[in-house]
Amino acid sequence: MAGIYVHIPFCKQKCSYCDFHFSTTFTAYRQKMIDAIKTEIDLRKAELDNQIIETVYFGGGTPSLLTFNELSEITKSLHQNYDISDEFEFTLEANPDDINPEQLKNWKNVGVNRLSIGLQSFLQDDLDWMNRAHTAEESVKAVEQAKTAGFSLTVDLIYGLPNRSLQEWTSNIKKLVALRPEHISAYCLTVEKKTALHQMIKKGKLPLVGEEDQANQFELLVDVLASSGYEQYEISNFARNQAFSKHNANYWRNVNYIGIGPSAHSFDGGSRRWNVANNQLYIKGVNRGEDYFETEILTPKDQFNELLLTGLRTKWGVDLNALKFKHCTTKEFEKQVEQFKNDGLLYETSNSLFLTDKGKLQADYVAAMLFIE
Ligand code: SF4
Repeated sequence: MAGIYVHIPFCKQKCSYCDFHFSTTFTAYRQKMIDAIKTEIDLRKAELDNQIIETVYFGGGTPSLLTFNELSEITKSLHQNYDISDEFEFTLEANPDDINPEQLKNWKNVGVNRLSIGLQSFLQDDLDWMNRAHTAEESVKAVEQAKTAGFSLTVDLIYGLPNRSLQEWTSNIKKLVALRPEHISAYCLTVEKKTALHQMIKKGKLPLVGEEDQANQFELLVDVLASSGYEQYEISNFARNQAFSKHNANYWRNVNYIGIGPSAHSFDGGSRRWNVANNQLYIKGVNRGEDYFETEILTPKDQFNELLLTGLRTKWGVDLNALKFKHCTTKEFEKQVEQFKNDGLLYETSNSLFLTDKGKLQADYVAAMLFIE
């Protein structure tokens, strides 16, 4: 069992908060990038030998910018080189402004069965300072059209936005819930250096949102989604009727995956590798057979810490036996676990550790305190 991620490094415009790898000036080398991605798929076919591919995820960047032919070429190459399950989950990230009946039909025709729609907010003011390429109205239409076309949907929402009251945030969540997507991912706005948002905050054009306000919005989100039938199966991810993301759940369960395309990451159980986050260097490296990636061998301690961090964030918790298999726990670890249990941040059942609701608000802190150094 394994997964494949394909990174499409193209975007129409630069969202003010985004520090992912992408380019907005790609017209001149567009086909070269598609060819390089196909070459990398071919070069790496042996890596997942004898493993059935259960999930394929096109992320970015903006994969919904691909034409039908481009998407078909890459998908065909994946099918030619890997053993893909007949019932694989095939997710494509799509921005609302790219969604229309013709594109939906194209995506269906290449086998996409799940769309991840980057909606972010229903408030036009938010979309304006974010420099999103779509309007709030287009978002609603896009979700409705995608539903009618029969896709399983996951929709992204951002919380911790500047100048937003709890009422406005509630209204954002309720508007999304009314559209009934199967799955919702909610991320806290983070201010990354080298982004336009960082500059806006530095210049006082937008206020920095405090941690307490972010936590209040998060708690509200969890409450409203729970009362609307969405289960929080990972800290930032919620699903109705167990429509969990298989692709992401496999990341959290340490299943092998390969990442194709510039900046994409891969994991083979014992090491991680990441491709260069530069489109020209990526194309050159792939074509000339030169190194276009770096690799890190994970030590038992690294594996222990990763398992702990990812497991704790999920409803499945972290299996203490699996953890100890990676690396022996220390006295400090046992002591800290007891302390967190007494503080109401962790609980243990059936030899697995879980975050309490209070603990979920401090997930990164709890995990960091339990890391083995
Ligand atoms: S569309 Fe997505 S990847 Fe592109 S700039 Fe906006 S947030 Fe970043």
